[in-house]
Amino acid sequence: MSLAHGRPYLAIPGPSVMPDAVLRAMHRASPNIYEGELVEMVRGMVPDLKYVAQTEGHVAIYIANGHGAWEAALSNVVAEGDRILVAATGRFGHGWADMATGLGIEPQVIEFGRKGPLDPARIAEALAADTEHALKAVLVTHVDTATSVRNDVAAVRRVLDETGHPALLMVDCIASLGCDRFEMDAWGADVMVAGSQKGLMVPPGMAFVFFNDRAAERRAAMKRVSRYWDWTPRATPEFFYQYFGGTAPAHHLYGLRVALDMIREEGLEAIWRRHETLARAVWAAVDVWGSEGPMSMNIADPALRSHAVSALRIGAPYGAQLREWTDSRAGLTLGIGLGMSEPDDPAGTGFFRIGHMGHVNAHMILGALGVIEAGLQALGVPHGRGGVAAAAEVIGGA
Ligand SMILES: *Cc1c(COP(=O)(O)O)cnc(C)c1O
Repeated sequence: MSLAHGRPYLAIPGPSVMPDAVLRAMHRASPNIYEGELVEMVRGMVPDLKYVAQTEGHVAIYIANGHGAWEAALSNVVAEGDRILVAATGRFGHGWADMATGLGIEPQVIEFGRKGPLDPARIAEALAADTEHALKAVLVTHVDTATSVRNDVAAVRRVLDETGHPALLMVDCIASLGCDRFEMDAWGADVMVAGSQKGLMVPPGMAFVFFNDRAAERRAAMKRVSRYWDWTPRATPEFFYQYFGGTAPAHHLYGLRVALDMIREEGLEAIWRRHETLARAVWAAVDVWGSEGPMSMNIADPALRSHAVSALRIGAPYGAQLREWTDSRAGLTLGIGLGMSEPDDPAGTGFFRIGHMGHVNAHMILGALGVIEAGLQALGVPHGRGGVAAAAEVIGGA
C-alpha cells in the first residue's frame, strides 16, 4: 500500500527542502522595486552572502541557475580563444567546461574519474607544462553532486602558488555552500559560484558569483564583457536595478533574506557540523546495509565524501526500483545516479543519491533511512540488518 500521503521529502539532492519560513516570506504582493524596503533589504544581504562564502571580496547576484553562474563567472575573466584548465571529478567539471566551449574558450580537461577526488600533482604537472602561462584559470568543483566527492580547494591554491602560475582559481560551490565547510579567502579561491536552490534553501532562480580583487583586475583588463554578465555594476551598483541588470527578483530576495537569517542564527560552524553528523548517520546505515549485499558508497574514503549529498552504488536494477518504491510508497524522492553511466546503459539503474543538504535535520534523515531500509526489505534487495539502528547511534552520540 502507499503510505506517501503526508509531507514529501525531496532528496534528489537539489532543489533542496525549503523552510516554511522561506516560502511564507515569498508569499506576498510585489514590493516597489525602485525605492523603500526592498532596496534596504538587498543592501543588507550582501554582507550576509559574503559571510556564507567566508570572503571579504565582492558578490554579484544573477537571476539564473547554476549554469548561469558558470557562464557569468567565465564571461568576466576569460575571453574567447583563451585556454583554461578544468579538473573533472564527475559530472559537473564537464558541465562547466562545456559552458566554456560555448563561449569560445578552450578547456583542457583533466579527468579524475567517477570514484575519487582531483589529484593536485596532476594539476601541478599541467601548470608546470604551461610555461607561457596561456592557462587563464583553473576550474574546480568543490563538491561534485554526481559522485559526491569533495575536492581539496586549498591544495589547488598551493599548487598554483608553488608553480608560480598566475591562473585564477575558480570554484563551483553550488552543491556545497552552506553545507560543507568552505572558506573562500582562507583557501585562496579567486572566484566562487553558487546557486540559491541547494544549501541556501531558496527556490532555483538566483545565482551568485563571488570574486576577489585579483579577479576584479582580470575583469578590468578584459577587452569586452557581455553587458548582462558583467559583474562590476552588480557588485558595485550606482542604481538599484544594476544589482540585477534589470527588475529585481523580489520574491526570491524575500525568501533569501529569511534563509540568510536562519543561517546567521544557527551559525556556519554549527551548520557544517550538522551536515557532517547527518552525513555520518547516512554512511553508518550504508555500511551496515552493504555488509551483506550490493550497496556501497560511491566514494570509499569517508574523508573525501561530501556532507551534502551521498552517491551510492546498489547494482541494476535495484537503484531504479528503490527510488520508485520510496517515492510512491513513502513520499521520499531519491536522486538518480547522475553521469555514472551512459544514458542507454542498463547498468545506469544501479545507482542512486541521497540529498542531505540545507534544511534537513535528524528526524528527516532517520526517516529517510528508515524508508530506504523498508524499501530494501520490500524489494528483496540483499542487505545487512540494522542500518537504521547504526544511524541512530551516530545521531544519539552526537
Ligand atoms: C546543481 C549543480 C550545478 C548546476 O546547477 P543548475 O542550477 O542545475 O544549473 C552545478 N554544479 C554543481 C556542483 C551542482 O551541484
